Amino acid sequence: MNNIFYKRKKHMSCLILAAILITSCIFPLTGCNNELTLTTPISITDYKLNTYVQISSYTNVKKDIISEAVSLCDYYEHIFSRTLATSELYKVNNKETTTLSDELYELIETGLEYSRISDGAFDITIGSVSRLWDFTSDSPVVPDASLISNALAYVDYTKVTLSTDEDGTHHIDMPDGFCIDLGAVAKGYIADKIKTFLVDNGVKSAIINLGGNVLCIGEKKKNTDFTIAVKKPFSDTGEYMELLNINDSSVVSSGTYERYFYSADGTFYHHILNPKTGYPYESVLCDVTIISHESTVGDCLSTTCFVLGADKGMELIESLDGIEAIFMKNDGTKLYSSGASSYIQNQNK
Ligand code: AMP
Ligand code: MG
Repeated sequence: MNNIFYKRKKHMSCLILAAILITSCIFPLTGCNNELTLTTPISITDYKLNTYVQISSYTNVKKDIISEAVSLCDYYEHIFSRTLATSELYKVNNKETTTLSDELYELIETGLEYSRISDGAFDITIGSVSRLWDFTSDSPVVPDASLISNALAYVDYTKVTLSTDEDGTHHIDMPDGFCIDLGAVAKGYIADKIKTFLVDNGVKSAIINLGGNVLCIGEKKKNTDFTIAVKKPFSDTGEYMELLNINDSSVVSSGTYERYFYSADGTFYHHILNPKTGYPYESVLCDVTIISHESTVGDCLSTTCFVLGADKGMELIESLDGIEAIFMKNDGTKLYSSGASSYIQNQNK
């Protein structure tokens, strides 16, 4: 067993950075406060989905609405979690059921779509391998090579079939031993659902931040965007790699710095795994940030572009309408999609 030096994901620092920057934009501005928006948001921060979640509404609604929005994280965790023994996905992976709720069906279908788009570089059946790696442990270890190679036999998204009966009941068929992991897509989906809930309850201006997976509702106030800070990979000092002007859109990042550890021999291991080898992808990229209208799309694309790599990833972004991206390479250089500059605050260009 290797002696491991481990660094936890800096969820909180990321969140604090976002909060500070968002707060810093709230400051007393004469005559520019719109009567529909609050200067100080109604905000709740909680630990959910293994990360810090913060929902801040600039629309004056009852705090109960924000609490209910936060508790939707628990509702969806009980559907999508790979590790929670009571979740619907856990039961599916353990062959306790083959029928699916509408939500699980929808998200597996979306995950399969991106698995196809990436020709399996992104593969939601990575679960048999990802469950061998525990990046959240205080003392993570590199799994045994034989366990990894055995697990690879159970990774192949083309073997998963979804169907729906005439009465609307959804079914899944996949070989024994297969394990679906929705870690790359669930937070975006949950953010979109929280947004729908808030909008249905009268919220016109808000930020939903699920551990750095950010979705804005409307504008911060009339004619004023939200300022979203994208944290600089591996920085412990709250530096940002980009400040973005965002309204009614999502900003989602994927990268090697999110969950990782070093083994005793100094080898770096991160959480985005190559379905062909079972080990972390070796990439020139350390961060992929996607700006999109829907957060589900942003979450799917951030991981998909990371696994595709810089060239193919950017090609994919350029082929899609309404999606922009910023990639950061390990050497600190940045790549921008053709329309990304319209979101970037001038001082940081
Ligand atoms: P994200 O932070 O959205 O980029 O998602 C990373 C998570 O996706 C990991 O923690 C795993 O749960 C899962 N994952 C890892 N490798 C892959 C892969 N090749 N395809 C799909 N999901 C993956
Ligand atoms: Mg993702």
